[in-house]
Amino acid sequence: MLIPCFACESRFRPDEYFRACHDYNRGKDLVAWTCPRCGNQDELRVLPGELGFGYPRRGRFDVSDRVRVPGLRRQRQDLRLDISLDRKVWRVPSRLRQLAGAH
Ligand SMILES: [Zn+2]
Repeated sequence: MLIPCFACESRFRPDEYFRACHDYNRGKDLVAWTCPRCGNQDELRVLPGELGFGYPRRGRFDVSDRVRVPGLRRQRQDLRLDISLDRKVWRVPSRLRQLAGAH
């Protein structure tokens, strides 16, 4: 099971791939991913059993390409997304945002 980079077409094992995930965007339910080979940055949605790739459109994220990852699971936490597969867990922390001058 290998997961591709859409920019350079390198393929990664899940462990290498998910370790390169960072900055979980809880509002949009997306994780950022930077390719360890070519440095391309992408955003994707982790779904049960698959990864969803796509494009932002009208403030939403439309999934247009899916890569099946059998057994993939996800769990939203307060400040991170936990991705699990084959008893391994990768924790993707949320991007730390400054509270916009709340009061
Ligand atoms: Zn790449």
